[in-house]
Amino acid sequence: MKRSKKLRLKTSVRNVLVVVLIMIIFISFGISKLRDSKKFEAHEIVEEDNYTLKIDYPRVENKDLEQKILTYIGNQKEAFLKTVYELEDVTETKSDLSITYTEDSWLDCRAVHINVYYYTGGAHYNKETKSYYFNTKNGKLVDITYFLEEDGFKKLANLAYYYVVKYYKENDLVYDEEWIKEGTSSKLENYSYFSIDEKGLNILFTYYQVGPHCDGEKSITIPLKELKGIVKEKYLTTEEQVIEVVKREKRDLSKFAGKKLLAFTFDDGPSDVPTNKLLDNLDKYDARVSFFVLGSRVNTYKDTLKRAYEMGNTIASHTYSHLNLYQLSDYDVIGEINRTNDAIESIIGVKPEFLRVPYGNTNAHIKELGNMITVLWDVDTEDWRYKNANTVKDNIIKHAHDGAIILLHDIYTTSVEGAVLAMEELKDEYAFVSIEEMIELKKINLDKTKTYFNF
Ligand code: ZN
Repeated sequence: MKRSKKLRLKTSVRNVLVVVLIMIIFISFGISKLRDSKKFEAHEIVEEDNYTLKIDYPRVENKDLEQKILTYIGNQKEAFLKTVYELEDVTETKSDLSITYTEDSWLDCRAVHINVYYYTGGAHYNKETKSYYFNTKNGKLVDITYFLEEDGFKKLANLAYYYVVKYYKENDLVYDEEWIKEGTSSKLENYSYFSIDEKGLNILFTYYQVGPHCDGEKSITIPLKELKGIVKEKYLTTEEQVIEVVKREKRDLSKFAGKKLLAFTFDDGPSDVPTNKLLDNLDKYDARVSFFVLGSRVNTYKDTLKRAYEMGNTIASHTYSHLNLYQLSDYDVIGEINRTNDAIESIIGVKPEFLRVPYGNTNAHIKELGNMITVLWDVDTEDWRYKNANTVKDNIIKHAHDGAIILLHDIYTTSVEGAVLAMEELKDEYAFVSIEEMIELKKINLDKTKTYFNF
């Protein structure tokens, strides 16, 4: 009797232990999942008095590769924040870190290019590009030789040398032939950035590689016809880009006459889940909105961009790399704007008309260089800071007024949910229109020298 009681006690203690153990496993699993989802958040935005930081993280299926990319980006961020910290009491400079990515693919290979721009004082941004090329079937990293015929590398190096020298000659620049020879020789580290398109093989030579730092980065394109026998035949048959005519809905705006108007605008996208979730909800509220997209992202999310445009939403520019335009040369300002316009046109068939500069940093000179209509906002939801749908909704409702332009970001699901919740509450009082529709309804004569905060 005694024995069995003791045994029962032992059993119940064991049961409790087992339950506790299971709980511990569940909790730690939950925490690690939480930690993972935090770590793999696709975007990071920080706006402080002395610095701004914006990072877009690419997603790749291969976990090892993803870890490599995250480590690289993490190191860049750490180095930047260290410099910001060191500069804190020394200077009034507003530093900026912007990390974007672009993607390429060729048959069985994909490339992710991480573009790092940082400004911590001085005349201009510094730029660094890191590219990862990998086989999409097995996830293994590959390098340029993967694309070349067996004896192709030396031949390619000679061609690259020729095209770099040609570039210097054609532009009447001083050059050092030995420097160029060394920088284009057939070593893997000399060919860490390349891409193949319908024009040919593009190779980027970074700072100091083929000349002094002041020469900057050099990008050359070796035409397709010169690459026969060097690049494997199958990679040379890239199709010509066909710009198809995209059909677009146009609404009868007379139904909105006399209603108060709201323009919901979404920056920093397009994205996959949040943008599409928003698009799914628009018809329910008879709403159309505006997207100020980043040129670096439109190719990755071209189907989403096309869908948004076809529905009748406004597609506008938020520049290519989200840099502070005050710190760029005229050449780079125009580049940031024109590259975005070209990227958008290649997908929807028309160039955007409206520009929202990052951080709203513009002036008469930038407007002249851009030659577009500048549209900013007058209701800032600070959705990126709160990441809470109800707070976003409350901020919209509190500040809504006729003609308002509301700033949101369609890279966060919480922002999109907040916008939809606000539409639900405001739908009787307001019509939700795109920037183009707002301008038409309010009969605005647009002026490229102006900055529009509302209409
Ligand atoms: Zn932005």
